[in-house]
Amino acid sequence: RELANQIAAGEVVERPSSVVKELVENSLDAGATKMEIDIHRGGIERIRIYDNGVGISKDELPLALARHATNKIFSLEDLQSILSMGFRGEALASISSVSRLKLTSRTLEQKEAWQAYTEGREMHVAIKPASHPVGTTIEVLNLFYNTPARRKFLRTEKTEWQHIDEVVRRLALSRFDVAIDLSHNGKLLRQYGVAQSELQKERRLLRLCGASFLQHALTLSLESTGLSVKGWIADPHSPKINDIQYFYINRRIVRDRVVNHAVRQAYETISTGSNTPSYVLYLDMDPRQVDVNVHPAKQEVRFHQTRLVHDFIYQAITTALNHSTS
Ligand code: ADP
Ligand code: MG
Repeated sequence: RELANQIAAGEVVERPSSVVKELVENSLDAGATKMEIDIHRGGIERIRIYDNGVGISKDELPLALARHATNKIFSLEDLQSILSMGFRGEALASISSVSRLKLTSRTLEQKEAWQAYTEGREMHVAIKPASHPVGTTIEVLNLFYNTPARRKFLRTEKTEWQHIDEVVRRLALSRFDVAIDLSHNGKLLRQYGVAQSELQKERRLLRLCGASFLQHALTLSLESTGLSVKGWIADPHSPKINDIQYFYINRRIVRDRVVNHAVRQAYETISTGSNTPSYVLYLDMDPRQVDVNVHPAKQEVRFHQTRLVHDFIYQAITTALNHSTS
């Protein structure tokens, strides 16, 4: 079982930033509106994430660390309509098999908090009382300490930190309703406050994507039967700006050929220049019309009606761009 976890860890846990991604997604699934992410030495020494979500009850602490224990999917029908970020129930098991993991949590019903501790090889989970507000703190120490081959593949602390920064940026772009603090080596480096008004959203976008993008970004919004797309796309006639390509489907970041093609084609209709499109776009659609369960890191998708989605994105972008040039 230990081995199975470590093999699974190879798929889910490639580097510290993949740990951060899984943990933050869990916090979001738990309904957190505030997160504090504390990274030490590129996340190799320590990743600690506090959230104010619903917490994990004492009885469920060991289960949360067990493989294929997810409380998010109950049936095949659930699997076809996934809106939660996690659904495989293997992230925590995988992470704990290649690190020392501390899970401290308190639910609203419990007066006191509890802490579970596991260390890679022993799958035994020790539980003791702890002090913690409602919510969860997960601490991942000494990543890959027991898999030296994997540890060797890690880059410098600085590079690993940059990967983490990027993972958090993607999440911050997808959830303006969640406050996120991100620290590295004891310094608070990023602070993304809750953004509700358009002005606050633009301020957050400015922090995340830079002034040049915001300055040349056109807002975009289109809805039609069952599909909605919103966001920002850079004017193709603007001077060269940072490469920014973020596409979300139902708040999940994806990289998809169909989407890329639609965006590029729309850009080329408007401008013959060779600018790479820069955009932050959010597509919302019926989760039953898109399979997200294609790839372990959950970045690839498969649309049931490829043509429809493609043409919808194309139309949304050309409309926004035409407006600006006319
Ligand atoms: P999945 O997210 O696919 O369900 P994980 O291994 O990532 O699987 O997490 C296992 C379970 O642990 C989750 O289903 C959830 O019940 C619980 N859990 C993990 N992190 C948190 C958190 N931050 N707050 C509340 N519950 C959590
Ligand atoms: Mg998860």
